[in-house]
Amino acid sequence: MTDTLIPFNRPHMTGKELGYIADAHAHGKLAGDGPYTKKCHEWLEQNAGGGKALLTHSCTAGLEMAAILSNVEPGDEVIMPSFTFVSTANAFVLRGAIPVFVDIRPDTLNIDETLIEAAITPRTRAIVPVHYAGVGCEMDTIMAIAERHQLLVIEDAAQGLMATYKGRPLGSIGHLAAFSFHETKNVICGEGGALMINDPRFHDRAEIIREKGTNRSQFFRGQVDKYTWCDIGSSFLPGELVAAFLWAQLQDARAITDKRLRVWDAYHAGLEGLERDGKIQRPVVHTQTKHNAHMYYVLLHDLEQRTRLISRLSEKGINSVFHYVPLHSSPAGQRYARTSGSLARTVALSDRLVRLPLWADMDAVTIETVIDAVKSIVHSN
Ligand SMILES: *Cc1c(COP(=O)(O)O)cnc(C)c1O
Repeated sequence: MTDTLIPFNRPHMTGKELGYIADAHAHGKLAGDGPYTKKCHEWLEQNAGGGKALLTHSCTAGLEMAAILSNVEPGDEVIMPSFTFVSTANAFVLRGAIPVFVDIRPDTLNIDETLIEAAITPRTRAIVPVHYAGVGCEMDTIMAIAERHQLLVIEDAAQGLMATYKGRPLGSIGHLAAFSFHETKNVICGEGGALMINDPRFHDRAEIIREKGTNRSQFFRGQVDKYTWCDIGSSFLPGELVAAFLWAQLQDARAITDKRLRVWDAYHAGLEGLERDGKIQRPVVHTQTKHNAHMYYVLLHDLEQRTRLISRLSEKGINSVFHYVPLHSSPAGQRYARTSGSLARTVALSDRLVRLPLWADMDAVTIETVIDAVKSIVHSN
């Protein structure tokens, strides 16, 4: 074991977080939906949404709200990739619905939109595209399929803040969408997220579900004269200290994204030769999508080479990681979900992928160190 010299991630701090937290503290307004939460909502609505934003305590919580809003019943089906984080599936399994996994595209590793229609049955209620690495899914095709079959589209935009598809922000296209502000994402508050409600049909009910099933939000706006239990729900909202932290980050979201893009571009240029030599594959970003540099990954030829690269990098003190044990191969995935068609690409690609260290303030020397290490290890593979 070598000490880690280059970690996988270093959370970026803007310098304004503690000031805003001190301000919230001084005003003694600590419960949710205070002034900082409102600022975050407005920012998200202006910069990332096609409608209304509601902060949640995680993207997982946002997806759980979306699952309640989608009215899925036990036995209903929800189409999604197997190559994703557990919360994409869990949110619907908690409602008794069945995730139906389809394979991913070989270029972006996003859900293969051409396989979605074959997975639709009379029980299908929703499609959940996941924008892997902040690269947008083929949303025009997905929205058209959903319209033809009267399905909801819920974007898992956990990794997608500040990225666009044909000029539209990820998170603004589906009927509902969820962002994550977890420490490992681009814009952070420790644990946090947001539900984006792009279809106004869901506005009122989303507020009620988030406030323990009560119409408390309407009461505080003076729209009803007492508040009461109206629906199922839970406590999905974060407190003001978390929102104050997040507000500092959202204000700098463009700058954070630009810094990350510089790191991403340096990796992409530095590893071009390895791809030309047929040693690795670099990420593919099509021109209609603008990504947010959430992640830089490379694809090796097979699991053995991938394992060797991670362990040799580790010997040099560089922390790299693989990503996603496909959900259909996990114990819970086998119990609660089913597959549609072959998942051969999901299985093969998830075995070959390595994520390299990437954070906003990564300096040129550190980036070069990682690139040189990858080159020397892969060349001797
Ligand atoms: C990070 C992530 C989540 C979960 O986000 P939390 O805020 O930690 O709940 C869900 N889906 C995807 C694709 C993610 O990357």
